Amino acid sequence: MKKVLLIISLLFTTLSICKAQNTASNIDNVRIRIFSDKQIEEVLFVPSFGQYYIETDKGEKIKVNKTAKVKIKDLDGSLEIKINDSTISKTSKINLIATGLKAFFQIAPIKPQITERRYEDNLEITSKNNSLFIINVVKPDNYLAGVVQSETWGATTNIDFFKIQAICCRNYMMNNLEKHSNEGYNLCDGVHCQAYKTRANKKEVTEGAYKSKGEIIIDSEGNIIETLFHSNSGGTTVNAKDVWGKEVPYLVSVEDSFSVECKNYQWEKYIKLRDWLNYFKGKGLNIKSKEIEDALINFSQESGRKTEILGIPLTTVRKDFNLKSTYFNVQKWGGEVKLTGKGYGHGVGMSQEGAIKMCEEGYEYWEVIEHYFKGVKVIKQ
Ligand SMILES: [Zn+2]
Repeated sequence: MKKVLLIISLLFTTLSICKAQNTASNIDNVRIRIFSDKQIEEVLFVPSFGQYYIETDKGEKIKVNKTAKVKIKDLDGSLEIKINDSTISKTSKINLIATGLKAFFQIAPIKPQITERRYEDNLEITSKNNSLFIINVVKPDNYLAGVVQSETWGATTNIDFFKIQAICCRNYMMNNLEKHSNEGYNLCDGVHCQAYKTRANKKEVTEGAYKSKGEIIIDSEGNIIETLFHSNSGGTTVNAKDVWGKEVPYLVSVEDSFSVECKNYQWEKYIKLRDWLNYFKGKGLNIKSKEIEDALINFSQESGRKTEILGIPLTTVRKDFNLKSTYFNVQKWGGEVKLTGKGYGHGVGMSQEGAIKMCEEGYEYWEVIEHYFKGVKVIKQ
């Protein structure tokens, strides 16, 4: 009997553990802090589509009419709600809850005044440190579509590309659900997490996000991968190890002809010869040596990407001279050096311009992902 009880209790424990685990398909909503880098004292909320009601922690439920202007103000730690300028309630927590299948709203900080934004689904407002703490409680795919539109709209209208972007952002979301858990939410709306400055209203973006529902990228051990990307690889992507010193099996250099001749494929920069040489002098090189001077003004990566120039990491040179990439050649040009470079960004993972090119050439979205991330698989979770 004891044994049976043990088995039953073990079974229940296992079941509850399984149930507690989040998968990309079973998360109902995510909590995203919006205007996270701002101190806001008062906001204006206006429903744009769908039906909303206000729920306060005092148990009130107040319907919000379509054209109603809801103002929420922090008054020394408590919240004052006004609808069309008459005070409705004072409370410490407000939920603005949508009913129905689809709903979105407009939110505009009044104090200080900041351009309005639109978001989908629900809103939760509390007071923290005498300012409003605003959380968008949103369905994951609505959030992802918003992120994709905030970060990548404008480069193409190809749906497959937005599908890839949504999958990459979903990977990030799944790996970072606990990033702000100490503060009571999942992710913030800034570049610290993923920029989320709007709801998506571009058809291609929303279709890309919804059609990839539940899809994530895993490595050969089943882990959700870190989906790094950059603007253009210059024709060869970079090993993660060469940039951050840590080897990542799926972030290894690949030949990338798709990035060639795209918008950010090539760049040039002129630097005063004196500044160029003095920089390396500052790094401890003896620039009086003819051999060293020659190496510094005749540097070439024609035969393939290099990681350093006379022992100085190219990532450091890139940062110090604000270069578009580490993939460049140097030649003397009068009183200057001319840097002729390829690519834009750190070069690790997926080249966005290359991915767009692949999509436009008719490759499947998963073929694009498998081209840039080695040995991975796209699965529906
Ligand atoms: Zn964050």
